[in-house]
Amino acid sequence: MAEALHVRGVLLPDDEVRDVWLVGDRVTFEPVPGATTLVDGGFILPGLVDAHCHIGIARGGTPITSVAQAKRLAVLDREAGVLAIRDAGSPIPYPELDGDPDVPRLVRAGRHVAPVKRYLRDIGLEVPAERVAEAVAEQAAAGTGWVKLVGDWLDRGRGDLGPAWDDATLAAAVEAAHAAGARVTAHTFGEEAVATLVRAGIDCVEHGTGLSPEIIEEMARRGTALVPTMINIQTFGEIADRAREKFPGYAKHMLALRDGFPALVGAAHGAGVPIYVGTDAGGGIDHGLAVEEMLLLREHAGLGVEEVLAAASWGAREWLGVPGLVEGGLADLTVYDEDPRVDLRALRNPRHLVLRGRPR
Ligand SMILES: [Zn+2]
Repeated sequence: MAEALHVRGVLLPDDEVRDVWLVGDRVTFEPVPGATTLVDGGFILPGLVDAHCHIGIARGGTPITSVAQAKRLAVLDREAGVLAIRDAGSPIPYPELDGDPDVPRLVRAGRHVAPVKRYLRDIGLEVPAERVAEAVAEQAAAGTGWVKLVGDWLDRGRGDLGPAWDDATLAAAVEAAHAAGARVTAHTFGEEAVATLVRAGIDCVEHGTGLSPEIIEEMARRGTALVPTMINIQTFGEIADRAREKFPGYAKHMLALRDGFPALVGAAHGAGVPIYVGTDAGGGIDHGLAVEEMLLLREHAGLGVEEVLAAASWGAREWLGVPGLVEGGLADLTVYDEDPRVDLRALRNPRHLVLRGRPR
């Protein structure tokens, strides 16, 4: 039998002190005789989740040059208490990291499916409208359950944000992902592409700064998730500054989107849209900031403390299909000295991390 570990503490979101046993990579609440007690006391989560993270994009926005580099980035997240990552698009594949004992649980999209010559250089698979459905099917096979679209980006001809492709192509992309058995999400900043994609049945929206009250209602009705990446939206001022000379209308639009965003996320939450914590680490944003994103959701968007905890741990894990502290769940947990419900900052200092049944 695999070595068993025993952990005792307050199992959030409940107030009760409970005993948990980890046998190999599984959780059980049935006592295991002879188990080694790792922890007695503290507050226990199934680890944090970064639901929008890029371990394939290096600082500065260039593709990583080795799988070892992706692993180093993932370890930065792990050290901050993140034990599951939804990788929201990578220019290079690393299926060998899926079961790596050092790497948080990975749920991966393949390469971003992006419009031609508009998206970040060398990151996306750039395809014209007529090849989008085919590219989506390929990337569904390259990932582990998700496809990532670039739904809109700066359209230089317009001098403003514009959809990546026409409405019929966006809808066909969603359909192609579902036909391939994958869930599909999209980067969207503007108002148009997100409306088309939500109506077409997309599973999740990344950023979503251009959501209207009507589309928020539609997401709530359909159960479409939102990963707001509030850390990313705070960089819109820099994007606007760089673009203002050539594209003043775009710069102005980005600032308006930024300024309206915290209230918009609050409205989506109030309407019943499922919200998950994602940092958009990789490129311009550092790894290991999941707790900071949680603080923004709490303080700027007005989510309740337990709602933020769910959005960053047990709720997100269930959504991603990597169940945590339930009978038969995966043997991941983090333990904190202080109750994060009193102050989320307690999450900055995990006292213990256990990943795949192994203390780290
Ligand atoms: Zn991203």
